[in-house]
Amino acid sequence: MRGTSVSAGAALQAFAAELYPICRSITGAGVRKTLRLINRRIELDWHEVPSGSKVFDWEVPLEWNIEDAWVGDADGRRVVDFNAHNLHILNYSEPVRTVLPLEELRPRLHSMPAHEDWIPYRTSYYRRQWGFCMRHRELASLPPGNYEVVVDSSLAPGSLTYAECVLPGRTKEEVLFFTHICHPSLANDNTSGMAIATELAAWIAGAPRRYSYRVVFAPGTIGSLCWLQRNQQRLGRVRHGLVLGLLADPAPFTYKRSRRGDCEIDRLVEYVTHGIDPRARVIDFEPYGYDERQLCSPGFNLPVGRLTRSVNDGYPQYHSSADNLALMSAGQLEQSLEACKRVVEVLESNRRYINLSPKGEPRLGKRGLYGAMGGRSPAERERAMLWVLNQSDGSASLLDIARRSGIDFAAVKLVADELEQAALLGSADATRRTPAAATRVAGAVPPSKSKKAAPSRSGRRKRQGIRSTGRRK
Ligand code: ZN
Repeated sequence: MRGTSVSAGAALQAFAAELYPICRSITGAGVRKTLRLINRRIELDWHEVPSGSKVFDWEVPLEWNIEDAWVGDADGRRVVDFNAHNLHILNYSEPVRTVLPLEELRPRLHSMPAHEDWIPYRTSYYRRQWGFCMRHRELASLPPGNYEVVVDSSLAPGSLTYAECVLPGRTKEEVLFFTHICHPSLANDNTSGMAIATELAAWIAGAPRRYSYRVVFAPGTIGSLCWLQRNQQRLGRVRHGLVLGLLADPAPFTYKRSRRGDCEIDRLVEYVTHGIDPRARVIDFEPYGYDERQLCSPGFNLPVGRLTRSVNDGYPQYHSSADNLALMSAGQLEQSLEACKRVVEVLESNRRYINLSPKGEPRLGKRGLYGAMGGRSPAERERAMLWVLNQSDGSASLLDIARRSGIDFAAVKLVADELEQAALLGSADATRRTPAAATRVAGAVPPSKSKKAAPSRSGRRKRQGIRSTGRRK
């Protein structure tokens, strides 16, 4: 990995470990506790959507909270205990207090026969029931007889909580990051996504921005539907988006394209992740996964892709107690954060230009544009300039030029700035008209310099502050 330090990965790992033990669900105290921890690091706007609210074809359910739950044998020993692991409860179990013979209890006990020592993660948000999840080995060893069953939970009118970090930029055009916050003690899915989205927001806040950014922390499905419903008027501003999750397991990156399939974010994330790790994969859109299912439903069809390592259901430990802190390495977390930062850097710098001297090649020498620069040989610099001049007819972006030429984005960006200063290029983007705006853009930095760039951004964070509108808690 380039441009990284052990401490940043260790910090991400420590924050993920703080989030890991919390019993989360799509509503309730666990979600709010999680958001409070995130709110210590970044400013969040909180939103509470009351139970019973209609959300498109869905309805916000009763709020679920849980104090304790267990199954006790004839000797009063807890054979399944929520306090030992929060995956032991079927998430959203209704309250119950009863005694049942094993044969009647058995259909309520869920296990993974293929992995006898793992506890499965199961939910029942919309069908009211109760149940427990346990290791298959322990389930198989339960003797016949009566068992005491206690689920000390509540399902009552309350609200669904989601929150977002809003970072205004020079334009109202928005970049959206989305991560799900509803899974209980599962590490990769999704304490990794929450930790990375938090650090990414803090980093973005530390420098001036062309785009406005919105980093949303919401329960899966019903949370993104609530967000979509409350933001319908603003969706036209969303220029690019990325769902983040499952970012700490050992697999290489997987980028899942937007439903549209040909958005700037699609080309850009493919370019960035492949540049970091040549094993990075790109898969096409499918209507299965995380919140891209809602964001890319045909009624919205937002330019939003998804970045993970393994995909949902794509690793053995998925949705089980084996998706624990041991599955997450500091190095994977840090590399994932680095990828997200580079996505932002390239988005911020990616532009379209028009060659202002398009008839034949302009003479570079008389404008002082020959010679070495930025650690590049005169020949490399000239080649990059010729590519940018040739392709800049207003249709190709700098990213398109980098991809077509094989020259790295940072070099393309560097020479485009020089050519613009020499009045050989003019902006083709409506959002960027003045030279003053150009100089304030956070430029992409070459990979070797990205380590230096990050502290300078975060160093400015104190002065810049994290601007957030309509904050309420
Ligand atoms: Zn999941």
